[in-house]
Amino acid sequence: MRTIRLAKVAGVSYELHYSWFVLAGLMVVSLAAHFALAEPAWSPIGAWLVATTTTLLFFVSVAAHELAHAAVAAWRKLPVRSICLSAFGGVAQIEREAADPGTELWMGVAGPLSTAALGVVYLAIDATAQAWLPGFSRSAPHVVLSWMTAINASLTVLNLIPGFPLDGGRIMRAILWKFRGDPVTATRVTARIGQGAGLALFLFSIRWLLDGLTPSAIWMACVAGFLFDGAATAYAEADETAALKTVRVREVMGRDYTAVDGCASLETFAAQYLFRMGQRCFLVMEHGQIAGIITASDIAHIDRDEWSRTRVEHVMRRMDDLGSIDPEALVSDALKTMRRERLMQLPVVANGRFEGVLQRGQIWHWVPEQPQLTM
Ligand SMILES: [Zn+2]
Repeated sequence: MRTIRLAKVAGVSYELHYSWFVLAGLMVVSLAAHFALAEPAWSPIGAWLVATTTTLLFFVSVAAHELAHAAVAAWRKLPVRSICLSAFGGVAQIEREAADPGTELWMGVAGPLSTAALGVVYLAIDATAQAWLPGFSRSAPHVVLSWMTAINASLTVLNLIPGFPLDGGRIMRAILWKFRGDPVTATRVTARIGQGAGLALFLFSIRWLLDGLTPSAIWMACVAGFLFDGAATAYAEADETAALKTVRVREVMGRDYTAVDGCASLETFAAQYLFRMGQRCFLVMEHGQIAGIITASDIAHIDRDEWSRTRVEHVMRRMDDLGSIDPEALVSDALKTMRRERLMQLPVVANGRFEGVLQRGQIWHWVPEQPQLTM
């Protein structure tokens, strides 16, 4: 697991990615160093306190931004799976894509609107305090407030770049979708702009790095890579969505799986099932219930000497960790979930009953003209 789950409320999981700690640490250290120089009157502890407060408020802004996306998703009946804060900002994982341009527009607008609104709130508090409290403009709260105003303003501008998957890209995609009538072309165009923006940001960060190896410039380069990668994935997914537009999970999933006892050793499993049958994926039973899935690749990375001592149930992937998908869901949506969660198999469950398994390998038969897609 690369994330820590903080809470799960109403089906939404709130998570922190490990990279978040790196960014938070870097931010506190570089802000404290900045304040030590810029505000010589402050004590070292004061500089650290202000740096920590500013960093925490920065993440509150990012979280508020994601909550705004999630609120629109809930309003438009799109299930929200998780909200995760990482070194690259926040990500709200929505189960399904918007089904109409109106929803997509609201999804896109919600983010920058909430960030801009927060910036205005900070600005208003700062201006009011300056007007009413003598000496406020030389105080630490003023420094924090002006930093938060500036951070929220720059985040708003960054988010409004019209490249997918940035919010501005979503807004642009909604507009193209509305007027051209085709969501796939809209994704392709805005994803290309997103890749271009990622590249431009990367060149900018290289220019910045030439002036000195600063954490901010390195962070900017990472964000650029993250954006480029996200846009490239969105572009590939647009092709898949086009190819798999009408294909449902039930048409592609496998139904016949041999069940294996969870208590069996890997040795037994390999000899009696894996090597004997032409199947790669098996169901694991515990107390008469389907407990998980085991595949050839799951046991491939276990040392062969360990096979006699290791049980199937210790290597399998548990149903709870795999999640599930409805047989009536679109394969393109299932594929997005699998890619995001790095899964090769997804159990298919209807009304609590196990129906089969969707395997990534089976999906590619439906997209013959996509040589760039590899497993
Ligand atoms: Zn956003």
